[in-house]
Amino acid sequence: MSRKLMVAGNWKMNKNLMEALTLASQVITRAKKTSGKVEIVLAPPSPFLHTINSMSKDLGFVKVAAQNCHYEQNGAFTGEISAEMLKSMNLAYVIVGHSERRKYFNDDHSVLSKKVTAVAGAGLGIIFCCGEPLDVRENNNHQSFVQTQLSDSLFNLSAEEMKNVVVAYEPVWAIGTGKTATPEQAQEMHAFIRKIISEQYSSEIANNCTILYGGSCNPANAAALFANHDVDGALVGGASLHSDQFLQIINAREFLPVR
Ligand code: PEP
Repeated sequence: MSRKLMVAGNWKMNKNLMEALTLASQVITRAKKTSGKVEIVLAPPSPFLHTINSMSKDLGFVKVAAQNCHYEQNGAFTGEISAEMLKSMNLAYVIVGHSERRKYFNDDHSVLSKKVTAVAGAGLGIIFCCGEPLDVRENNNHQSFVQTQLSDSLFNLSAEEMKNVVVAYEPVWAIGTGKTATPEQAQEMHAFIRKIISEQYSSEIANNCTILYGGSCNPANAAALFANHDVDGALVGGASLHSDQFLQIINAREFLPVR
């Protein structure tokens, strides 16, 4: 079985209702012209999830993800959204562990591990983000840093649950900075992540796990990143807010061989 290829767009806290619907409709219209071999994931702000999911439901390869959720199923948590609610909307994925959630909302290992459990329990796919800050990379500790992130927050999942996980390697120093990891840096870390998944679970689970690169991915650098054996696609921030750029990244993934 070959791994799922994916290009996901994290819109973060951008776009009003009309802008979001326009962007979603542009992406969906253009997605119809692709072969469908690359799964396209849209992660709009939560108020727009339901409508955009309805807009995309006829195209099996266009899925919708929430950017976050709470770890409790329900209760007195004003302003929060549970994985169960997202499941009831038939969403496909929840992004867990994005570095902005870690930095601004105190999503630490213990919170993330509970979120991972809640999302898996609801039967939704997880896009789990990991990645090191600049000082860690400069001190050459990036592999052990990412290994700790995965083992502390993700590896409490069962092997069966792990089959629904997409890992996004997003070096913090590359997110929103215009600084991209080199293809060699991305490949090295993706291969390392696959190795530790294999050691924790099995080589089959590791080989089937989709691992995305994230961090200033754009139409100019996407093909070189995707040319690497262990880079299955991208989690895209800034460039996903422009349908033409996002589609160019999808096209870059389309025209490279399936693993
Ligand atoms: C992200 O936030 O997940 C991301 C990769 O952002 P950008 O592409 O803007 O660096």
